[in-house]
Amino acid sequence: MLLNIKEMEARKLKFAQSWQPSEFDFTDSGMNQSAPLIASGTAEMVPHTGGEIRVQGKVQTVLSTECDRCLIPASYPVDAEFDLYYKPATELADAGDELAINAGEAEIGFYELPGLELEDILREQVLLQIPMQRLCRPDCKGICPVCGANRNDVSCDCAVRPGDDRWAALQSVNIQRVS
Ligand SMILES: [Zn+2]
Ligand SMILES: [Zn+2]
Repeated sequence: MLLNIKEMEARKLKFAQSWQPSEFDFTDSGMNQSAPLIASGTAEMVPHTGGEIRVQGKVQTVLSTECDRCLIPASYPVDAEFDLYYKPATELADAGDELAINAGEAEIGFYELPGLELEDILREQVLLQIPMQRLCRPDCKGICPVCGANRNDVSCDCAVRPGDDRWAALQSVNIQRVS
C-alpha cells in the first residue's frame, strides 16, 4: 500500500491491514513470517514543516528461524508500536551534509514522491524487534561439538576424559558453569 503524499496534503490517512504468513519476505534476514502480519495506524503531513510526514501505528506478527546454538525452530512474536517522521528527500539534496548528519541523529527518514510504501516501513519495524542473537531460549546450551547431541535434552559426557575418575566430578562442575 502506497502512503500517498498528495493525499496527505488533503487529509490524514488511516490504514488497517493484514497479510498472510509468508506474504512478507524476511528470508534475506534468515527468517520466515509464520503468522499473519497485522498493522494499523495513521499517516499525516505535519503542519508548518514544509512537508514533513508522521507515520504512527502498531504491527504484530510472529517470525521464525533456527536457534543460533541448537538449530531447533525458534519463534519471535513481535508486537510493536512506532512513531516515525520523514522529510522530503529534496531537503536532503538542498541542505547538503549538515542536514544529513542532524537527520541521522534524530532518526528521521526521507521520502520521495509519490510517497512511502507501507510494507517497507512495516518490514523494517518488525526486524528492529528481533535480537541480533537468536536463541530458542536465553539459556540454550547448544549442541555438543563432539557427539552432536542437543544439550538442552540430554547431558552427554563427551568432554570428560575417560579413566580419570578423580577429575571427572570436578570437570563436570566446570563444564556446567561454562555452558
Ligand atoms: Zn537453542
Ligand atoms: Zn556430546
